[in-house]
Amino acid sequence: MHLAPDYGFLEILDENGAPVQPGEEGYFVWTGFLNDAMPLIRYRIGDRGRWEDRDPCACGRAFPLVVPTITRESDILRCPDGRLFSARALNQLLKQATSFRWCQFVHDRPNHVVVRAVARAAFHNEHRAGDLMQIRSDLQNLLGASMRVTAEFASAPVTRRGGKIPLIVNEVATP
Ligand SMILES: [Zn+2]
Repeated sequence: MHLAPDYGFLEILDENGAPVQPGEEGYFVWTGFLNDAMPLIRYRIGDRGRWEDRDPCACGRAFPLVVPTITRESDILRCPDGRLFSARALNQLLKQATSFRWCQFVHDRPNHVVVRAVARAAFHNEHRAGDLMQIRSDLQNLLGASMRVTAEFASAPVTRRGGKIPLIVNEVATP
């Protein structure tokens, strides 16, 4: 996406309020130029993303490129301590698992995530179970002791409208 600098000024900042490097993910902090009556100044809306370091863009526009990675609509794992994990980050855990057709992370209670896998028929049980336990353990290490991770096999993935199969299924109400 291109930034439209006439309408607002965007900063992408890390946890400490420092600007991130191109390609690095951070928080969107907006200053709006459109509303004089109630100006938004350095307003953190909860979305995250990164600068795309690519120029010039093929479409011909010279405005900066931004890639939103977590928006309010997207599936996201929100830990009770405030840490956020995007689908992109969690997808890394699945790289080694060859015996799954689908694997999803179901955040069903504030402190609990289920690794929910649908196995491919062609693989042996030990192989599938090994993949499942590995992902469970990797996710547990990533999330830390404040979250509990369990794992289970399912016969079909959780789907959304339009047949979309999300990597993160968020069933916990967000404040
Ligand atoms: Zn473009």
